[in-house]
Amino acid sequence: MPYVIAEPCIGTKDTACADVCPVDCIHPAPGEDGHEEATILFIDPNECIDCDACVEACPVDATMFEDDVPAQWEMFKEINRTYYDESPEAAEDMLKSYAVNKS
Ligand code: SF4
Ligand code: SF4
Repeated sequence: MPYVIAEPCIGTKDTACADVCPVDCIHPAPGEDGHEEATILFIDPNECIDCDACVEACPVDATMFEDDVPAQWEMFKEINRTYYDESPEAAEDMLKSYAVNKS
């Protein structure tokens, strides 16, 4: 059961979580392809070891245990997975849909 990055990362994306993750499962990290363009960072559900370090590090409480994701951010579970299972572009498309539906 992995951790998830949700809405508060939008507009912050300071990479503190990627800096502390012991298994480097948060991408795109600084220096990686797509980092500048990415709206948020994404946790790889297949690599996360549930260590909680990213929760402590995040200044805006955007990282959380999957079971703790509130209903209004439920879509972010799928968004994080899509980044890895499908493509970064597909995840960004989902983020755009989320923003449109919210407005
Ligand atoms: S819970 Fe730990 S392993 Fe999982 S993304 Fe956060 S820092 Fe990385
Ligand atoms: S620490 Fe929080 S705001 Fe910063 S990149 Fe990670 S999830 Fe986003």
